[in-house]
Amino acid sequence: MQKNKCLFLDRDGVINVDINRYITSIYEIQFYPPIFEIAYWAKQKDYKIVVITNQAGISRGLQSYEEVEEVHLFIQKEFNKRNLKIDKFYYCPHHPDFSKCFCRKPGTLNFEKAIAEFDINPLHSIMLGDNIRDILPAKKLGIPTILIHPLLQPTCATFQLEKLEDTLPLLRQVFL
Ligand SMILES: [Mg+2]
Ligand SMILES: [Zn+2]
Repeated sequence: MQKNKCLFLDRDGVINVDINRYITSIYEIQFYPPIFEIAYWAKQKDYKIVVITNQAGISRGLQSYEEVEEVHLFIQKEFNKRNLKIDKFYYCPHHPDFSKCFCRKPGTLNFEKAIAEFDINPLHSIMLGDNIRDILPAKKLGIPTILIHPLLQPTCATFQLEKLEDTLPLLRQVFL
């Protein structure tokens, strides 16, 4: 029986503002303040925190591996400053125009890697994303999902919220 719980996070649009192009510098990172409160909750409840993100700009030549790694290091440092830790970032560098892969969401591979590496029980975990692409792979693996989206047409997400600020009350109410 897998023993750990995990809070899976999408990056752009959940941790930091999605600027609608690939982020190549730490100066383009603008955090959503509620993410730190959410991470505190997860830490208190003994969840691992794992980021799963598509960064196809690498394949498309619009950002480098180094830039992506640097951004992740910066995000990690900002979490560390608040006594928080992201256990690991998994990113897909591919783009379907250049190479097929199973790690680009809605592919499940990066989730599966995390589940194996951290001995995670999907059923006791949570995926928090702002795009249906984040929700589909999690759902496939049995991970409960929270979709943050201002337009609340129904989707297959377990929960749908209009804003990230609504997440913490839901977590406190529903998740152990
Ligand atoms: Mg996103
Ligand atoms: Zn990939």
